[in-house]
This record gives sequence, C-alpha cells and structure tokens, in this order.
Amino acid sequence: MPARRKTPAPSARKVRATLEEVFGLDRLRAGQQAVIDRVLAGQSTLAIMPTGAGKSLCYQLPAVLLSGRTLVVSPLIALMKDQCESLRELGIKAVQLNSAVDSDEQRAALAAVEDGSARIVMTTPERLAEPGFVEAMQAHEVGQLVVDEAHCISQWGHDFRPAFLGIGDARKALGNPTVLALTATATEEVARDICSQLGIPAAGIVQTGSFRPNLGLQVEPVAREQDKLERAVAFVKEHEGSGLVYAATVKAAKLVHEALLAAGESAGLYHGKLAAAERSAAQEAFMAGEVRVMVATNAFGLGIDKPDIRFVLHYQMPAGLEAYYQEAGRAGRDGDAADCSLLFLRADKSVQQFFLVGRYPGADDAKAICNALAEPPPEGDTWTLQTLQGRTACPRGKLQVALGLLRRKKIVAQDAKGIRLLRADVKAAELEALMTAYGNKRDQDREGLERMVSYAETGSCRWRLLLEHLEGDAPFERCESCDSCRRIAAHEQELERAAA
Ligand code: ADP
Ligand code: MG
Repeated sequence: MPARRKTPAPSARKVRATLEEVFGLDRLRAGQQAVIDRVLAGQSTLAIMPTGAGKSLCYQLPAVLLSGRTLVVSPLIALMKDQCESLRELGIKAVQLNSAVDSDEQRAALAAVEDGSARIVMTTPERLAEPGFVEAMQAHEVGQLVVDEAHCISQWGHDFRPAFLGIGDARKALGNPTVLALTATATEEVARDICSQLGIPAAGIVQTGSFRPNLGLQVEPVAREQDKLERAVAFVKEHEGSGLVYAATVKAAKLVHEALLAAGESAGLYHGKLAAAERSAAQEAFMAGEVRVMVATNAFGLGIDKPDIRFVLHYQMPAGLEAYYQEAGRAGRDGDAADCSLLFLRADKSVQQFFLVGRYPGADDAKAICNALAEPPPEGDTWTLQTLQGRTACPRGKLQVALGLLRRKKIVAQDAKGIRLLRADVKAAELEALMTAYGNKRDQDREGLERMVSYAETGSCRWRLLLEHLEGDAPFERCESCDSCRRIAAHEQELERAAA
C-alpha cells in the first residue's frame, strides 16, 4: 500500500524538539521511535507493547505534528476524561465524545470537531457507529485513526467487543487515514485479525517484548477451598501498598471482600452486578488511594491506570494466560517491584469451564436470530437487543457475539435505529459454517485453559512459560525472580554447599 502522506514526514530534529518542548520528555523508549516514525510516514501500524510501555505517546506526538487531526477510539470511557485533561495541560486541544459527557461539554466538543480546532478527538466505538458522527468528522481531514485496546476488535481475543467490528467501515468513510492500533497483548491470531480488519500490512507490526522484569510471579497451591480465604487474607496482610484481588465469580469476590473487612483491611468491591454509580464510586476510591485493596471480578480493570499497584492476587485462575497476563500486569506500571500471585486450586478449572460453555453461540442460536428478524418486531419499528433476547431466549452475551458475527458477514445490520435482517435468503448451511468457525475458538479456549493450568503446575520459570505462550518464544531460560526460579536457585546453592 502506498504511503498516504502528501507532505514529507517531519524530521528527526522536529520530533525531538516536540518531545522536549510539548511533552517535557528527553527520549523515546524502545518501540516508541519505530512506531512514531511509521505513523509520521503515513504507514498503518499495530503496536504491541506491554502495559506501562508508553503507548499513548505513540499517537500523541504524531497528533501534534500531522496536518490532519487524530481520532482515538477506545472502550475506556473512564480514562478519556483524564487523558483529555492532561493533553489540554500540555496545550493540545483534545475533546471527548461518549455517553458519560454532559450536554454542555458535548456541545462544546462537537463545535470544536466541526470548526476543526480539536486536534485529538476521543470517542468510543459505540459513538463512532452512531449516525452523524463520521459525517461530523468528515468536515476536516483525519490524519490518524487510533484504535486503543485494539485486541477488543478480534473475536479471538479475550475481551471481544462487538462494537469494535464497525471501526473498519468507519475508517473507509473517513478516507482511509493512517491507522495506529495499540494493545498490550495480542496472540498471532489476534494480531492477524486486527491487521486484516484495519488494513494494516503484515509488516506493520511493531512489537516490544512482553517481559516485565519488575513483576515477581508466584503460584501458591491450595489443597482445599476452605483454606483459600485464610491464605488470601494473609497475603494481603503480608503486602504493603495498594493491590488488587481478582475473583472469577461475584460470589467469591463478595466472600473475599467480607473476609478482608473482617480482618480490618481497607478494601473495596467491584463487580458487574453493582449499579454503575456504585462501580464508579468504588473505582474512584481505589484510584484516589482512599481504599487500599480492591476485590474485583474481571469487570474491573480494562484500562486501570493506577501506576503504583504493588500486588495482584488471583483468588481463582482466569480463563487463560492472556487474561492472566493482562490482569496481573496491572501491577507495577511505575516500574517498581510488584508481586503477582495465584492461589491455585485444581477444582477452580471447572468454574472457567462453566463460563466457556455459556459463551459460545451455535448454529441454532444464529438460526433463531435470523428467524426472529424475518418476522415483524413485537413492539416499535425495529428489533432491539431486548426484544430479540425475549424472542430467542438467547443469553445477552451469546446474542451479542452472534450478532457481531452476523454483522461481519453482512447478514444482519445493527445501528442506532435497531437490528435488521439484510439477507432474508440466508441458508442454514451458511450459518452452520459461520458458527463452526466459531466452534474452533471454543477448542482454542479449552486449550487456553489447559495452558493456564500448566502455568500453575510448572516447576520451571513461570515468565518463560508465559512468554512462550504470548510470543512463541522467551528471551531467557530463567527470569530469576519467579517462585520457580528462586526455588531452583536455592536448590543449586544447596547442592554446591553439599559438594564443597
Ligand atoms: P500504556 O498505554 O502503554 O500502558 P501509557 O501511555 O499510559 O502506557 O504510559 C505509561 C507512563 O509512561 C505514563 O506515565 C507516561 O507519561 C510515561 N512515558 C511514556 N513515554 C515516556 C518516555 N519516552 N519517557 C518517559 N516517560 C514516558
Ligand atoms: Mg494505554
């Protein structure tokens, strides 16, 4: 694909001066230079860099130097406000448009989008899909389209968000600007999917290693469920600073939370069944340091930007190693040492197996959806998620995943106006094929869970096992910091002493 740039890319000197004068930084970190050079040359790029590596600067610096403006699509509403404010403090005009913005700010932001004064526009994939948004952006050139947490675009990823599937079309409507996709984790398959959906060439992937030397990994095997609570409380007591305790279910999260409070610890609770206001209050208290420990399900976390988290304890194993890397990786973003521990009870595997079964739509679900959509909706002019859920009895998560797949194949359309069947002639065989492909994902997830168990049971370096899974390879034999490496080192010392 030819580079889109019409004007020559800014010189290295100009980049350096901007880094110092606008951002107050003296040098770019590993990976940042390569990404920024590509973006400034108009080459679409996927940057895979670990949490805390500095992905934001990779688009913020080009945003200052490119002639067209920058559109950032991110699922993290909670972070947008802070990011906009810090950009404005640097003198960069940034606005946010999402469901959390009040009507005054919304009006001002839209005006800045329309008159072209906004250099950076931040939004959610849901807002991007709303009628009128892309049209408003078309008024002025978009030089850079940034997709943060880009792994959410892939159904092969662990955080798949159906709304991300619309970004590829929006890009075309915006005149194919240079794309910068950012993520901390992407397996080969996810990376391929991101690239194909966003028009990034295979050679456009910049990856810095996922190794985070400041994170000390360990696993504590537990024989009985009833021992875990005590171990969790003891772990929190042994550790200073703020920390996270992840549980796989709401029930377990509540249990741990109560036990910590009973033990006199300062602890908050966060899970998907809390009301939105309760959730944001819990999150704010933790971010502000008013609460030391947050007990949470995986509903908490995507984009948690607290740099000084000193420990992450998993009360139960997550569904796979990518999820583990991401959740544990919320510790130590400031680069200081942090402990990441997993309480491992073999029976916990069944909790994740239970979730796996519930997550996958089958051909029957797809057929039920298409059949329902072929009928007039029970109320109003079009089908909605609610009415469709009522008719098909398909759980919401499954329904959304199935709709995402049907949309991608242009069998169904879903927008602010509702959900419609585009192809009434769709054959059962086609739906079978579509959903079978998704069945492979189920097998893959089963394998992912097995890998999680091998991680917990391994006697060799845990970082190495993790990196081999994430990157296919590890740059070392031993990290020298995980519990296995420490055990091996102690054992070797003993042997040496015995030999002496
Ligand atoms: P990521 O999105 O990759 O997790 P962020 O973009 O949030 O990371 O950056 C993490 C931290 O690193 C921020 O506090 C940021 O200011 C800082 N940072 C980024 N790039 C540099 C740099 N070149 N020099 C010094 N600090 C940097
Ligand atoms: Mg980030």
